[in-house]
Order: sequence, then structure tokens, then C-alpha cells
Amino acid sequence: MTIYRNYINGQWIESASSKTAENINPANTDDVLGTIKQATREEARSAVEAASEAFRDWRMTPAPTRGRIVARAARLLEDEKEALAQLLTREEGKTIAESRGELQRSINVTEFCAGEARRLNGETIQSELPSNFAYTIKQPLGVVACVTPWNFPVAIPIWKIAPALVAGNTVVFKPASLTPATAVRIVEIFEEAGIPKGVLNLIIGSGSEAGDEIISHRAVRAVSFTGSNDVGIRMYEQVSRRGAKVQCEMGGKNPVVVLEDADLDLAVESTAQGAFGSSGQRCTATSRAVVVNDVADEFVSRIVKRAESMRIGDGSKAETEMGPSVDESQFKTVLDYIGIGREDGAELKCGGERATGDGLDKGYFVRPTVFDRVTIDMRIAREEIFGPVLSVLRVKDFDEAMQVANDSDYGLSSSIFSNDAARIFRFVDEIETGMTHINSPTTGGEAHIPFGGIKATGIGDREQGSTALDFYTELKVVYVDYTGRKREGNLY
Ligand code: NAP
Ligand code: MG
Repeated sequence: MTIYRNYINGQWIESASSKTAENINPANTDDVLGTIKQATREEARSAVEAASEAFRDWRMTPAPTRGRIVARAARLLEDEKEALAQLLTREEGKTIAESRGELQRSINVTEFCAGEARRLNGETIQSELPSNFAYTIKQPLGVVACVTPWNFPVAIPIWKIAPALVAGNTVVFKPASLTPATAVRIVEIFEEAGIPKGVLNLIIGSGSEAGDEIISHRAVRAVSFTGSNDVGIRMYEQVSRRGAKVQCEMGGKNPVVVLEDADLDLAVESTAQGAFGSSGQRCTATSRAVVVNDVADEFVSRIVKRAESMRIGDGSKAETEMGPSVDESQFKTVLDYIGIGREDGAELKCGGERATGDGLDKGYFVRPTVFDRVTIDMRIAREEIFGPVLSVLRVKDFDEAMQVANDSDYGLSSSIFSNDAARIFRFVDEIETGMTHINSPTTGGEAHIPFGGIKATGIGDREQGSTALDFYTELKVVYVDYTGRKREGNLY
């Protein structure tokens, strides 16, 4: 049985811990991939110390040289794409098509970041004074902790690690406990790409012990976190208190707005993809459909039909459209929320239960679920469920749709289905989300386009795209005076 090891200062080291957990395939709980040994606080500390030691040389390594290592990692990821996609499906449960998509996104991000290594430029600025000018340089921060969730266990770590390294930081990577196998492969790829010892370290351990030790360490100058709001907000408080940088990408409750002039086929198919794709376990998943009364009956009847036709199963089978929830706890959470929706008086139109039979009994499968006549005060309309559950909220017109869509603590993604340019652009102006889509699902994004949310979803700089390196660099301003004379008058 595989035992996942930590990677500290260029060495793969088995944890001395006696706390273990099994890595289980959520589509078939008889399939055990390996054993986790939860890293101790001491091991977590030694990873930070190794990263701190390695920083001196890495920051002096020219950025294009750092970029070349990241470019090599991109090529290795490309070679490993299929094997890693299979592993991802077995470990996390998403369909093989979704895993291949995640791998392609990871390759794209790595390529993009490698290119950024040749564009780590500052600016030169004219002075008010003769024979004076100023310029800016972008410098790395030091040791950066990357703390990541299980739902995109390849892409999210890579979209943090690659820019952090290109910028000249050293990294301690703490993946989610549920997805150690993919985490190990990512680090092996960077190792093979030639990352110097100590520059990238991996700690497999629980958030509350190893994770806490890493983010609390004085040498960690920045923490990039993606995950739940409870954990993220606590982390923000804890880390910002010592003046270190924090970036948190957290939950979502993403709405689609469907207007009376929408192409309903497109709206239904896109909503189904957004709501049930990855079993609803995307931060950008569609969880609210805000539909105007004129088309609501038709929309509901078509989305229910689509939900019922969804082929559920082991993600490794080509025909599967939707896999399981990631583990027992997530599975129970989803079923609990379905119970809450019923009690609160929402109309259950389909799903609402565990999927069984046809080999599904050994996995954590929930049938795609649609609730109709959900009102904005209900918990299923307000809280992130992270399962294949869609709430339909009926509204009288566009104005009410805007109000309901924005009545959320979260602000990650959204979309609108309409062909009326005036209302589409009013939606773009007024919707309170960091990303919005027109006539397409709430999910999806590209490697060279910034990603992130507002309100309770996001704290700090946007990840990826033109803003990918902002979080991982400090701007230093340099004033140059080549007059050789004492300055006259006052300067502020
Ligand atoms: P989570 O429970 O918050 O965990 C995220 C990471 O934080 C894991 O590595 C976890 O370790 C670690 N952690 C937990 N407590 C910690 C502590 N006290 N100190 C340091 N680290 C700690 O989230 P999840 O269940 O893995 O992921 C699902 C959530 O991620 C959803 O809310 C989803 O919306 C969000 N998400 C957001 C985005 C976005 O970009 N906005 C993208 C994807 C997912 P353990 O695994 O060991 O607990
Ligand atoms: Mg697993």
C-alpha cells in the first residue's frame, strides 16, 4: 500500500506520525489508493525552515531561469496528462472528461506563468526634479504557504505554486487531506523539472495541526488559501495579525438569471452543466436559477427532464456525466441540505436522495436534485451546499431578478440568459460577483484571465491572468538623483 510522503528540502520523507487515514475512491469505497500519515507540527516546521533557507539563492536566480523550470514542468504535465487525469478521477471522483479538462487548465496555467517570468517588469517614472527619476522593481516575498482544497486538487495548487515560484518565492504546499496522491504527483513533476532543494516543499497533514503550524510560522510571509469560508476567515485573522499577506478564495452561491427572451435550450443545458457538473463541487457551480415567471414553468420542466437523464456513475467510465460526492461527510452534508429544503417548504421536483443500484451502492452518489419555488430566505438559497442541488427562485421581472441574484453573502460567479443587450449590460454593471458570464454557464475560466470573487467569497488579489503575480510580489520604489547636488526647498 502506498504511504504518501512529505517532501522536505529535496527529500521524500515518511512522516513519523502515528495518525493515519485512508485515501478512498469515492465512487467505490472498496478501492483504497493509499495511506496518509498526518504530518506532525515539527515536520511542518522543518518544511518552512527548508523553504526559508532556500529563499536566499532562489530569489537571486534570474526570473527567466526560474521560468524555464516552470516551463519544463508544463511539458512534463503534458506527458503525464492522461495518467494524472485517471488518478484524479480515482481519488476525487470527477468524471474523466472533467479531469482531462482540469489537467489541460493546469498545463495552460503553467505555460502562462513560465512566460510571465520574462515579463517581471517594473516601470520607470519621470521626476518633478531635473536629473532625477524613479523606478519600481517587483520582488519576491519569501516563504509562501499554498493551502488548497480537494475539489480541484491539481489545478488550484498549480495556479498558486507556479506564479509563486516564478516570482522568486519558496513554497510550502499543504494540500487537502482528501487528495494526497495528486499532490505528490504535482511535486514529483516539479522535482523532475529541476526545482532546487527546499524551493518547493510538500506537507501532507491535517489543516488543524500541520496546516496551522505552517500558516502561523513567522517565516511564512504570505498565505494563499482556497477553501471554505469558515477556515478562510479564521486564517485571514490569524495571518494578517502578524502583518503577513493573505489571499483567500472561498465559497460561492452562484446565480443564473433567465429572462423571458432567453434561448431556453441553451439556458437549461448551461444551468445543468453548472449545477450538476463535478457533482456540484465547484466553487463556481450554479446553485440558484433566478427565472422570470413567464418562462419558469417551461424552464423547470426542462431542467427536471435534463437532471433525470443525467448518467451517474464511476467517473472513469466514458459514458458517465456525473460522479459522486467526494467523501462520506460531504455526501451527508448534501443529503442534510436536501432535508432542510424540504422542511423549509421548497418543492422537490426530482432527485433528493442517494442514488443506488447498478454498482452505485459502494459510492457516495446523490441524484441530481431540483427544488422549485425556493424563496430567498430559505437556507438552501443562502448557504453553499457543494452538491448537485439546484434551487429555482421565481421572480416577476428583471428588476426583481437583479435584487434576488444580489441578495447573497457570496460574490464569486454569475450568468445571464437573454438576448437583450440593454438588460445584459445592466446586469454586468449591477451584478455583485467577481466574474460573470453571458449566455454561458457560471463555471469555467481561462488560464490567462484573472479569477476570483468579491463580498464574502474573496479577500486579496485576483489569481491567474494578468494579476497572477500581484499577490506574490512586493513593489519596491527606487528614487535616483544624479545631480550630485544638495536639494533645494522642501520635498514631501
Ligand atoms: P476547507 O475545509 O476550508 O479546506 C481547505 C484547506 O484548508 C485544506 O487543505 C484544509 O486541510 C486546510 N485547513 C483546514 N483548516 C485549517 C487550519 N486551521 N489551518 C490551516 N489549514 C487548514 O475546504 P475544502 O472542503 O477542502 O474545499 C471546499 C471549499 O473550497 C468550498 O467552500 C468551495 O467553495 C471552496 N473553493 C473555492 C474556490 C474559489 O476559487 N473561490 C475554488 C475551489 C473551492 P484539510 O483537508 O486537512 O482539512
Ligand atoms: Mg479520496
